[in-house]
Amino acid sequence: MDRCISALFRFILLLFLSHSQFIAAYPERRVWIDQQGCGDDVRSIWSVINGMRTTGSLATLEDSGAGKQIFDLIFKERTYASHIDDTLEAINEVLFDDRTQANTRIYCDQESRWHKATNAEVPGNENRPEDKKAWFDTENSIVYDPKDDKYLVPGCHKDLNNFVLGQTYCGAKDGSDTCTITLCAKSLPQGNFRYYSLAQLKERGIDFSGTGPQRIDMFALLDTTILHELAHTIDHPNTRSGKWIDYGDAYRWRNIRPMNAAGAMANADSLAYLGLGSYIQDSLGRYIINDDGSIGNR
Ligand SMILES: [Zn+2]
Repeated sequence: MDRCISALFRFILLLFLSHSQFIAAYPERRVWIDQQGCGDDVRSIWSVINGMRTTGSLATLEDSGAGKQIFDLIFKERTYASHIDDTLEAINEVLFDDRTQANTRIYCDQESRWHKATNAEVPGNENRPEDKKAWFDTENSIVYDPKDDKYLVPGCHKDLNNFVLGQTYCGAKDGSDTCTITLCAKSLPQGNFRYYSLAQLKERGIDFSGTGPQRIDMFALLDTTILHELAHTIDHPNTRSGKWIDYGDAYRWRNIRPMNAAGAMANADSLAYLGLGSYIQDSLGRYIINDDGSIGNR
């Protein structure tokens, strides 16, 4: 009898576990990367993004010798731990080959897919003054309207004062949950250090440890940019846009480290740095991220 009960209990527990494991709390993001524009190297980075999803989960952090320090440095408390885990889980681990199967589409086209919207696409647009016209991305059914934004044109702005690495737009006109991500030239040029992925650096045997302010920033490469942009496509219960946002001085270690818990749990770069820091700690060797952003050996 005892054995029966314990078997039943185990069965129920197993059911419960499998459900909590496979049903994410947020709608899943199915990712496609434009191979023609981005090339194989960008596609190969997907393995790092998947690694970051795993190493950043609290269960993995608690299991690993590296510990949960990176989580606590960024998110400060555990109140929102399951929300962070659910966010990472929302990213489907499979990279889709068919654009139409994906709701998260990554381009490297410098936003060249946009054109000025016709009246059919945005009513009255053809009568607007040139610098007020809305733009349309036909492939993804997304409107960019300068009246809702500070820029006149969508995307990777050529403004020299801006260091735009990636740009994400959601809210498709056809009512689907399609989002587009554009990886900008500044994150992409061949030979640019930022173009390399963490996996490539690991292959080259680079030593990630070292002191110096915010050293973790040195390794915020294309993989971290992609995870940051992916965060902007994932649902969030507490923001006006309903997605993860850029909160205040949103970027880089010096800003995300002192951010309070409520800001961090909505800030895209905080999620990206959780992925980055945990990946360095866990997959790339026996490292630890310190409070000042330096990377130590354990
Ligand atoms: Zn952002």
